[in-house]
Amino acid sequence: MTAADSRYLRIEVPEERPKERIADFREVLHSYTREEAMLEAQRCLQCALPFCVEACPITQDCRGYIGLVADGRFDEAARLTLRENPLATTLCKVCYHYCEDACVMKGRGVPIAIRHLKRAALEFGDAGLEYVPSAPKDQRVAVIGAGPAGLMAAWELCLRGYPVTVFEKQTAVGGQAGAIPHYRMPNHELLIDLQRFQRFDLTFVTDRTAGVDFTPESLLDEGYRAVFVSIGASKAGYPGIPGEHLGGVIPALDFLYDVNQGRPVVLGKRIVVVGGGDVAVDSVRTARRISPGATVAMAYRRTREESPAGEEEIRETEPERIDFHWLLSPVRLEGAERVEAAVFQQMELAAPDASGRRAVKPVPDAFLRLECDTVIMAVGEKADLTGFSGALGLKIGTKGWPEGSRPGYATELAGVFAAGGRSVVHAMAAGTKAAESIDAYLAAKAGRSALPRPDPFAEGPPPPVFPEGYSGPVWKP
Ligand SMILES: Cc1cc2nc3c(=O)[nH]c(=O)nc-3n(C[C@H](O)[C@H](O)[C@H](O)COP(=O)(O)OP(=O)(O)OC[C@H]3O[C@@H](n4cnc5c(N)ncnc54)[C@H](O)[C@@H]3O)c2cc1C
Ligand code: SF4
Ligand code: SF4
Repeated sequence: MTAADSRYLRIEVPEERPKERIADFREVLHSYTREEAMLEAQRCLQCALPFCVEACPITQDCRGYIGLVADGRFDEAARLTLRENPLATTLCKVCYHYCEDACVMKGRGVPIAIRHLKRAALEFGDAGLEYVPSAPKDQRVAVIGAGPAGLMAAWELCLRGYPVTVFEKQTAVGGQAGAIPHYRMPNHELLIDLQRFQRFDLTFVTDRTAGVDFTPESLLDEGYRAVFVSIGASKAGYPGIPGEHLGGVIPALDFLYDVNQGRPVVLGKRIVVVGGGDVAVDSVRTARRISPGATVAMAYRRTREESPAGEEEIRETEPERIDFHWLLSPVRLEGAERVEAAVFQQMELAAPDASGRRAVKPVPDAFLRLECDTVIMAVGEKADLTGFSGALGLKIGTKGWPEGSRPGYATELAGVFAAGGRSVVHAMAAGTKAAESIDAYLAAKAGRSALPRPDPFAEGPPPPVFPEGYSGPVWKP
């Protein structure tokens, strides 16, 4: 085989076999060996115009760390990764790798395994560093919600020297990332990431709910100079059909959180998950693992191709003894007190809608009744704005989280900002943008100029020297 041939052979990471992996929550995807990582990285063309970097919502310099891994320089690859990505240990397991979709090698069906190489950089590289804050400022900032958006904003602000307090209604931090099942992320990744925050003036106040215990306005009154609302979409959505509140009907988010926290969860013998996104897919896979003897089905109103779930997730789920039902839309749940059956309208594909996605329309008089004793609702979540004042003018987008309606995620109330995101890395990108706006706002208040992101490893070794042909990072510290 020539070097040119090997460029078109993607090295896949080892994967647990379906029969064994559905017996428990062991991690499904494993890591490369050092040698495998180097070989996979050597496939990268080190493009002068790196579409991979541009496609990453936080413009992670993935081309740079791939080049370093290719050379076996794992310590430098780890440092480069962490320099711009404080949740990299989390993202190397769960990111939907938008970079790989844009990789020029995807055209040949073999995109570089950019996310797995991030994992290799962090597993084999010793970054050995904690983030270093700039000179302290006296303008304290409050962040409401400790999900990826809030944590990223806190990182950006702490780096610039602002003291930050993060208020979180749950006992644990991490937001929806804490609902990601352990077979994809064993759950200590976020803690590893947060250990690098230790030198920051950062306080977490958990079990405190905005709208109940305090409000953005009360925080401003208490002396916080700015507030970032990053409360995500944590309220269960329902399709609005008869029977949806019967016994045995469980919201997917609560179900997944409870399983991750080790709380007791009782499922029946015939489980139906309603929905087609990643939360629905995680729900069927989790139900499969905790109820080995049950039938587990997933019903979605569009086709597999139109499903919002990631291809990787669906591919991994298919051999896990799940009954997929595509083109089924729920119309009612039947039962006296507990659910006994779910009735669906058969759908068919219609012309594309405004977004370019194929729409669906009902097939007249075609229904399917699935007998069941448990229904897990995974039809989308939205923000709970109970107790938030209308003066903020928060707008809730189609995906459910609140955003400020002014540029830079500013709300109608001076000093209050709001944002979130549809994936961990999108939420982080939103947190960055909000933090930049907050910095500009506070700088103007203090009569100084806004700060670019300082070098987070100011006291560490110098940034790496890159391989020949490398045209420099897209983001420059
Ligand atoms: C089961 C599941 C699997 C997922 N898998 C992936 C994946 O593999 N990859 C990926 O990239 N994304 C995944 N996501 C999506 C990703 O987790 C979210 O897009 C991301 O967490 C959103 O970040 P956020 O900070 O905007 O909001 P959230 O993560 O929702 O964080 C908001 C935080 O605010 C808190 N909060 C809410 N209301 C209040 C209040 N009133 N007062 C105080 N605190 C409050 C919440 O408790 C929460 O901690 C998954 C989501 C779920 C549910
Ligand atoms: S954070 Fe995600 S999108 Fe960005 S480079 Fe890493 S895997 Fe790719
Ligand atoms: S797009 Fe990025 S990952 Fe893909 S070959 Fe080019 S530089 Fe490498």
